[in-house]
Amino acid sequence: MTRPTMSHAAGPAEAVVDLAAYRANLAVLRAAAPTALQMAVVKADAYGHGAVETARAARQAGAEWLGVATVEEASTLRRGGDRGPVLAWLSPAGADLAPAIDAGVDVAAGSVAQLEAVVAAGATNRPRVHLKVDTGMARGGVRGAELSALFEAARDARHAGRIEIVGIFSHLACADEPSSPVNAAQEHAFGEAVAELASYGVEPEVRHLANSAATLTRPSVHHDLVRVGIASYGLSPGPQLGTPSDLGLTPVMSLTTALSLVRRVPPGTGVSYGHTYVTKRETTLGLVPVGYGDGILRAASNHAEAWVNGSLVPIAGRVCMDQIVLDLGDVVAERGDEVVLFGSGSRGEPIAEDWAQAAATIGYEVVTRLGGRIVRTFVDAT
Ligand SMILES: *Cc1c(COP(=O)(O)O)cnc(C)c1O
Repeated sequence: MTRPTMSHAAGPAEAVVDLAAYRANLAVLRAAAPTALQMAVVKADAYGHGAVETARAARQAGAEWLGVATVEEASTLRRGGDRGPVLAWLSPAGADLAPAIDAGVDVAAGSVAQLEAVVAAGATNRPRVHLKVDTGMARGGVRGAELSALFEAARDARHAGRIEIVGIFSHLACADEPSSPVNAAQEHAFGEAVAELASYGVEPEVRHLANSAATLTRPSVHHDLVRVGIASYGLSPGPQLGTPSDLGLTPVMSLTTALSLVRRVPPGTGVSYGHTYVTKRETTLGLVPVGYGDGILRAASNHAEAWVNGSLVPIAGRVCMDQIVLDLGDVVAERGDEVVLFGSGSRGEPIAEDWAQAAATIGYEVVTRLGGRIVRTFVDAT
């Protein structure tokens, strides 16, 4: 049994977020990394699931840390009432770090310039810093000779009482391909960076490298803390790791709406822009009032399926800005009947990964992009 804990005026479609499923997924991830602290990653509005509500559920589930990309996201969590450890790991040029640092948010430094910005932003509170190392992703963080420059600067800033060095971390490029040699190379490089930092007399409280995929597949990189995002939302980090149910995970978000029009059409009816779909026989078309303006992927045109009255039915033609047409075939349906675009899969409906496959992308993008006119509703176990 579930009951709504919060709801909004009905929009054209509803993203229903099951917080009990989210907490259960965090428990599965906890069991996979029992000796590490758990950081629930709630960046990008919790991958589209709602950051404040998701963060609250993460704390209930025992997550010691929260992780976000920007300091603005961290400030949103503080405004939402969270007082626990939070790390914001991005440091865009010109970002105003001071409010987050004053609110006790940990920040990252992945270059000497970023460290200087952090030190400069620490007026009342001493900034709590995590040093970011590039072990092979070639995105953020220091590598090569920059490593010693950052470590020296951090050590000096700490001696001067300007910062606390709380963590050292890096990010894996290929964790969703467990057999990739890149994983071992990054693991090794991270160990060397930790050792080099120790040679400067700095041994931070938390060393962290693992994302969801590594949490599930690579215990040797769990270290002190694991940063779990996608798997906590009940999606698989990648096809090589299996389906959510293979992993013991339950998709947290369901996207539901209702048919706004149902009608019978003859064979040879061209459907939607460009007539990329033409009915082969007499059939029933059902109109769905969401489209790419709400974050539905246009690349899913003619490929994804929805679930109506117990049947999987294909998208007919192109996804439009505000609408999608379904070919209901001979499924009996009427205006107002429920359409599940994706859900937990427990009733046979598609899951977000099915849409990802249909649109040649990843489940992360399917849920994170949702927005526009879609209304979010939270349910929780009674
Ligand atoms: C997004 C992100 C994570 C979470 O990754 P998942 O694959 O969603 O578990 C962890 N660490 C960093 C630095 C990230 O940017």
